[in-house]
Amino acid sequence: MKNLLGGKGANLAEMAGHKDLKLPVPPGFTITTEVCTYFYDNKRQYPSTLEKQIKDALAQVEKLMGKKFGDVKNPLLMSVRSGARKSMPGMMDTVLNIGLNDETIQGLIAESGDERFAYDAYRRLVMMYADVVIEKAGGMEPAKGIGIRKIMDERLEEVKKEKGVELDTDLSADDLKKLVKEFKALTKKHLKQDFPETPWDQLMGGVGAVFASWNGKRAIEYRRIERIPDEWGTAVNVQAMVFGNMGNDSCTGVAFTRNPGNGENKFYGEYLVNAQGEDVVAGIRTPAPINQYSKNDHSKNLTTLEKFMPEQYKELDEIQQRLEKHYKDMQDIEFTIEKGKLYMLQCRVGKRNGVSAVKMAADMYKEGMIDAETAILRVNPNQLVELLLPMFDPDIEKTHKVIAKGLPAGPGGAVGRVVFSSEDAVEWASKGEKVILVREETSPEDVDGMHKSEAILTTKGGMTSHAALVARGWGKCCIVGCSEISIHDKEKYFVTKDGKKIKEGDWVSLNGSKGTVYEGSLPLIDVDLNKNQSYKQLMTLVDKYKTMGVRTNADTPKDVEQATYFGAEGVGLFRTEHMFYGEGSDKPLFLLRKMIMSDTEQERKSALNELFTFVKRDIKATLEVMKGNPVTIRLLDPPLHEFVPHDKAKLQELSKELGVSMSILNRRILALHENNPMLGHRGVRLGVSYPEITEMQVRAIFEAAGELQKEGVKAFPEIMIPVTCGRHELSHQKAIVDKVYDETLEKLGVKKIPYLYGTMIEIPRAALKADSMAMVADFFSFGTNDLTQMSFGFSRDDIGGFLPKYLDLKLLPGDPFVSIDQSGVGELIKIGVERGRKTKPNLKVGICGEHGGDAESVKFCHSIGMNYVSCSPFRVPIARLAAAQAAIEDKKYVKTS
Ligand code: PEP
Ligand code: MG
Repeated sequence: MKNLLGGKGANLAEMAGHKDLKLPVPPGFTITTEVCTYFYDNKRQYPSTLEKQIKDALAQVEKLMGKKFGDVKNPLLMSVRSGARKSMPGMMDTVLNIGLNDETIQGLIAESGDERFAYDAYRRLVMMYADVVIEKAGGMEPAKGIGIRKIMDERLEEVKKEKGVELDTDLSADDLKKLVKEFKALTKKHLKQDFPETPWDQLMGGVGAVFASWNGKRAIEYRRIERIPDEWGTAVNVQAMVFGNMGNDSCTGVAFTRNPGNGENKFYGEYLVNAQGEDVVAGIRTPAPINQYSKNDHSKNLTTLEKFMPEQYKELDEIQQRLEKHYKDMQDIEFTIEKGKLYMLQCRVGKRNGVSAVKMAADMYKEGMIDAETAILRVNPNQLVELLLPMFDPDIEKTHKVIAKGLPAGPGGAVGRVVFSSEDAVEWASKGEKVILVREETSPEDVDGMHKSEAILTTKGGMTSHAALVARGWGKCCIVGCSEISIHDKEKYFVTKDGKKIKEGDWVSLNGSKGTVYEGSLPLIDVDLNKNQSYKQLMTLVDKYKTMGVRTNADTPKDVEQATYFGAEGVGLFRTEHMFYGEGSDKPLFLLRKMIMSDTEQERKSALNELFTFVKRDIKATLEVMKGNPVTIRLLDPPLHEFVPHDKAKLQELSKELGVSMSILNRRILALHENNPMLGHRGVRLGVSYPEITEMQVRAIFEAAGELQKEGVKAFPEIMIPVTCGRHELSHQKAIVDKVYDETLEKLGVKKIPYLYGTMIEIPRAALKADSMAMVADFFSFGTNDLTQMSFGFSRDDIGGFLPKYLDLKLLPGDPFVSIDQSGVGELIKIGVERGRKTKPNLKVGICGEHGGDAESVKFCHSIGMNYVSCSPFRVPIARLAAAQAAIEDKKYVKTS
């Protein structure tokens, strides 16, 4: 019932009530997400029946707990927590210890026999209430950015200094009692409001604050990044308090049924004696390991829960096994032990990085816990990127001195320049800088900067701290608890324990798999996927389920090999022009320029003849690597002026070669200038103006394929015409293809060269005219980069100027160049496929725009019946997994509908 109760509420109810579980959960109730929606739809008013329902539910909790809310002798204390459908760690608010005031505190003291504990709970309530309910939910902007929590925290630190103690737990009951008074006065002074003494007011204040936090800045930001719809709303969980800070027979902890860092099937977690849950997440004290397996460099000398409370550990271990079996997935659990009694406070599906997601899916399938379909659906395709994450070359890494070591919270290597605030991270990143965000700890306010950084390094916190959770969710390199460095964030530098000073803008390298930090920038290398057995097992399943082919966009034999290694089944886009860039391109580029600068057909033909050898050589090499798998070769696409040289020496060389003066050459260059090159003399239009260019390329393709055939190597080229808008262009070019085909058969003395002739669909008109285009084309490949550009009228190259604002204002749900705009551009694609197949039922259809490597877009392509998607080599595994998921989801939908 996640949609109604939120994740936390649904799981609490299930843990408490399900017949297979019946776990010790503190009693409570959930105010549903429907109330949140109502609240926002009705000018922040509650439904009229809410108050009575809360009172009734509270009475039931009182009965179960044998305590009364607001009672002076035996007060019941409550917590109020948010809980949305999808977990949003730390993004929304919580208020604990509700029900305490100057009167009920006496009851808590008497009942717990611990005055210090009672006043500590009270000062926490005042602090949280002032921060969450009065300041944040009240929409107050703190003066100079310093909020009430910070003011109170500073006061707490001062008192500790005055008393000469280090830990909160060393403060006496009296100290805390005074602090409660002071905190109330600070609330009045800074926020101009009194802390409410009435428990009911506190409760309703807390409930309202949770609802308000759904529309807080950080929650909105997080939803945007995670694409969580605004209308879902949050539920509010109101639950009886249990205390992990009632002395040394109490504790609180966070654990995972499997290790979320590497996926190993081992119970993994941390706990803190005499503490509340927020202490673990805040990362102020170093948590202890729950068992031997959970020890790390920082906690290796601390006592495990297993040793400290063997009985309770046994109970917890048994519960975690039952939970995993019940939910059939790795669970992230929160527990508290109050005076020796174990309580389960939360369980939810645990966040994990890509490496562990793959391992857990493969392992759980092998263990028989889940079926193949579930295993495939378990891994977010985008997370696969992490398995391909660059790492430092171990040999080079060995020779570098580790300047600091922390906990490895997010794997992979990262290199960047140090910044000390989230705002700086955002600003530097917007200028194209790679940055590493260095902070004492992170808070939900930092998410934007964290997202923009290559990696995050914190000095405080453990593996379950905010930074670790968020980075893990994103698969970002992250090191936490790196206490060996001290940060001077005002002066913008940090110092290592050896006294090395690293300033803002200095380069550092982080190994998030080991927790090590290096000065300077270490070279990153690619990983060997073949060694990852879980990946191989999962991808074997993936290939059984997917029905669409996955090809790659690649223009060199090296890239094609890389893509084949990732599982590409063909080349969906070989961009011919790429042979004129990069390594070894000097000679062909010179010849191409010569061809472009030619004035007569004769001159052009002679330049093309020379160029032919190079074009054929490159095409042949790629066809050879693909061994008979299809290779879609696109004829020259960009406007010719893109290849015109700008430096004088190159121009002089050309003028000499062509035997024309510089002024004539300059005139020819001027003639090539276009006001709107993206809509200009490019694509098929080049082939129409200069049929000899098409002829040369087609001859290179047929000769390459024919020669390979004679050498006993299978070759299957698909000739693709770019930027077409109608059938006649296609027929015009087809006549050239037919002529060259016959000539090549004769020249090589072969009977047949298998090939296909097709077109890209990149112009809206082409999609609309697909029925007639299919009369000539054997295949369509949707060039969704251009199709998006021409459908929106958004220039591919200039979108940075206005898109951010569009996204901010939600005028668009996302960047349409990243994920297909399904309702607009998607309609054109659908029309194109339908009309094309009406003419030619077996028309082969694929996509080769960047969208071919975007999981959502891949699923869309499946849904409209494409035969294949094509994407850059590193996206191939993502596309394969997304294709399999689409096939499974499709089947499930058919089954149930
Ligand atoms: C496209 O337009 O989608 C495409 C693949 O071609 P290019 O990106 O080379 O214009
Ligand atoms: Mg294009």
